[in-house]
Amino acid sequence: KLHNTIQELKGNIRVFCRIRPVLPSDLGDPGTSLPSAHATDDLTHHINYLDNQPPGQRHELELIQTTDSASGGKATTKQHPFSFDRIFPPASSQGAVFEEISQLVQSALDGYPVCIFAYGQTGSGKTHTMEGPDHPSEATMGMIPRAVRQIYEAAEALRDKGWTYVMEGQFLEIYNESLNDLLAESSTLPNAGSTTTTAARKHEIKHLPTGKTVVTDLTTVVLDAPHKVHHLLKRAAQNRAVAATQCNERSSRSHSVFTLRLNGRNALTDETSEGVLNLIDLAGSERLAQSGSTGDRLRETQAINKSLSCLGDVIYAIANRDSHVPYRNSKLTFLLQNSLGGNSKTLMFVNVSPLASNLQETLCSLRFATKVN
Ligand code: ADP
Ligand code: MG
Repeated sequence: KLHNTIQELKGNIRVFCRIRPVLPSDLGDPGTSLPSAHATDDLTHHINYLDNQPPGQRHELELIQTTDSASGGKATTKQHPFSFDRIFPPASSQGAVFEEISQLVQSALDGYPVCIFAYGQTGSGKTHTMEGPDHPSEATMGMIPRAVRQIYEAAEALRDKGWTYVMEGQFLEIYNESLNDLLAESSTLPNAGSTTTTAARKHEIKHLPTGKTVVTDLTTVVLDAPHKVHHLLKRAAQNRAVAATQCNERSSRSHSVFTLRLNGRNALTDETSEGVLNLIDLAGSERLAQSGSTGDRLRETQAINKSLSCLGDVIYAIANRDSHVPYRNSKLTFLLQNSLGGNSKTLMFVNVSPLASNLQETLCSLRFATKVN
């Protein structure tokens, strides 16, 4: 009964869990270098899931946590149950995952604001899900290029009915609560070491009375052919690489926000439509110890912890229909204010690692998801 009520309340917010496969590199990891027979057991038998429920039914997941008693006493086993709108097991292909979000992508073309997030610890598959690998194939392409292609094809199909669409792409990162343009021709991203403002441009977030959000001085690229998105992803990667000289984990310490604006006009009926699709690769959710960190590192840590918990608070407030939604508490939620809540649609991927050594972080990620679901 209570569960049904929660389901009704949460409306346009859905949460999917994706478990990444065990990679060859995981087995060579010193943290998991167990005898191989043991390794398989240890790595795969602590997440049980039901991913084949009929449509409309929630998918169940159970995390099994076994703690050996150091003194040779009995081992204790704890089961942590969770449920999601959808669970993608390690073998799920990018194409199968995209199939489940393609309706949402279509909504953006229909004029809705849409946000798709990837949440999870570093190494859990967020970037793989959103962007795909550096040299993608048809099979491994991520959600961003697939979304661009689908929108392009759907827009083409609407031409006969009088519609023309302009699709524009922007890509920014939020690092230490400030915005940087990932598509700038020459990198303007400040390095981790520069605490004072350098020559980097200041980007301001402006919410127009029309309900549109504008970020000042941001590069906008017209995507008039779907393959152009690959150039954008490459340019962003290069810009990040230049900035990474002093902080090579930069991409896991910042949020990347890819925004597609879809402006349509119908020449026959004079109707217009303005949809926005945001695809957000969040900073790593691993609990970052504040003790021991100082200076820039501490500032970074605090910024990540704060913005991820703000995001949780905002989604929670929307799902609960709270009268006050605390958008202003972080740059990320302030930026996305017009695409979260109201008539917008939100999807959160919770990406998790299958490794026993990551069990504690996996538990934290699943708990975060439960809070927003
Ligand atoms: P994150 O962005 O969360 O830090 P990544 O997306 O970089 O994690 O994934 C970590 C590693 O795992 C990468 O080498 C990536 O290619 C690989 N990986 C993640 N998910 C999958 C998947 N579903 N199939 C194959 N490889 C994956
Ligand atoms: Mg990543």
